[in-house]
Amino acid sequence: MSQAVEETESREIAEFRAEVRAWLAENRPPKPDFVMPQNFLFVETNEQFEYLRDWQAKVYEAGYLGLDWPAEYGGGGDTLKRQRIVTQETGRAGTPFFVNTIGLQWAGPVILKYGTEEQKKKFLKPILSAEEIWCQGFSEPGAGSDLASVQTRAEPAASGNGWTVNGHKVWTTIGTRAKWMILLARTDPDAGKYPGLSFFLMPMQVPGVEVLPLIKMTGEGGFNQVIFTDAAMPRGAMLGAPGQGWEVAMATLTFERGAAEGTGGGQATSSADTVQRAAKLASQTQRDGRPASEDPLLRDRLVQLWMQEEGLRLGGMRRRVPGLSPDRPMVLALMNKLVYSEYAQNLAELGCEILGPDAALWMGDPNAPADAEWPRAYMNSFGMTIGGGTSEIQRNILGERVLGLPKSK
Ligand SMILES: Cc1cc2nc3c(=O)[nH]c(=O)nc-3n(C[C@H](O)[C@H](O)[C@H](O)COP(=O)(O)OP(=O)(O)OC[C@H]3O[C@@H](n4cnc5c(N)ncnc54)[C@H](O)[C@@H]3O)c2cc1C
Repeated sequence: MSQAVEETESREIAEFRAEVRAWLAENRPPKPDFVMPQNFLFVETNEQFEYLRDWQAKVYEAGYLGLDWPAEYGGGGDTLKRQRIVTQETGRAGTPFFVNTIGLQWAGPVILKYGTEEQKKKFLKPILSAEEIWCQGFSEPGAGSDLASVQTRAEPAASGNGWTVNGHKVWTTIGTRAKWMILLARTDPDAGKYPGLSFFLMPMQVPGVEVLPLIKMTGEGGFNQVIFTDAAMPRGAMLGAPGQGWEVAMATLTFERGAAEGTGGGQATSSADTVQRAAKLASQTQRDGRPASEDPLLRDRLVQLWMQEEGLRLGGMRRRVPGLSPDRPMVLALMNKLVYSEYAQNLAELGCEILGPDAALWMGDPNAPADAEWPRAYMNSFGMTIGGGTSEIQRNILGERVLGLPKSK
């Protein structure tokens, strides 16, 4: 590529970035007078949900969501590069996260990859506009890390039209709000563990689907169990072919874990925890009569975390240039979830340490610094090292697929 073209492109991108930045400054919603969840996993009350849904709809209407999805399905028919700029800028501006994260980041991309024309036309636009919220029905009481053990059954309906679903899903994020679920179910119990699975786009608001909320250790909701009792799923609900469920589920997980890029717009969290924020907290917090930031051990830990943060940022840029990781092409993509979730946990832990005993003050306590955002982030961070595949499983994947170690039993 000539230098002139590169310069033109970067000028274009800079202009687009400035446009997005100005739009966000003008249109960001007013700070709500209720406690906001830190990310899409913890949305609970109607006021939280409606506030977030309105924000996503507004961003979509302005043309800043689904930029890289085809225009015929409601997308912008533009480039992933420009969508990335929007995601960077919403993160920088600290605007609210997008409530339909499961739709935008996992259901939408797999529908784009495996869906029929009819499915793409029906499902993609309402994902972007947040008219239709999606949840994910993978985990079951007996199938988490060993996902291929799912026992929920989808059988051809006795009427000959569609499917009948029976089973029990658990840890279903945002299940109470969802209109649709990406469902992994067993269609052929005799076909073996993996080929017996199929993947479906299951309606949630039908008889026989019971959503039972669960409470997390922070006292917040967001999680659910979902019980299916002879629930009807229409003909045409299958995504991909019969028996292809494992392949489609694995493709979903590569989107979920950030290993494959292809999102309608990325920001899934509002907690803008960065090392810079922790450093600011340290300089504003007194310890032994001096700012905590003067403690050399604390400074050392801040620098360690800052190096991780920079490593993540630069790694994200490097993995977009295939020639830069020729020896192990997938390593950066496969490391993404593991490294990010553990970095976020260490950072939140450090924030709590800086606060000292004040970290024990909880949400609603008028003396809690920043309404207990740091201890809340710390407790929530454990979910991030479990959801979408635990850190142990991510290490197994790296060991097996990147280092070529023998498979774990
Ligand atoms: C915040 C959050 C949101 C979630 N949202 C959803 C959702 O929307 N939809 C959904 O379907 N699921 C969801 N999940 C479930 C999540 O995918 C599972 O919790 C996860 O896959 C782990 O499964 P499990 O909880 O059954 O733990 P288990 O699989 O029982 O694991 C228990 C422990 O054993 C370890 N372990 C298991 N197998 C191995 C192995 N082979 N090698 C080494 N260690 C191993 C694990 O690392 C873990 O420490 C969510 C979970 C969380 C925390």
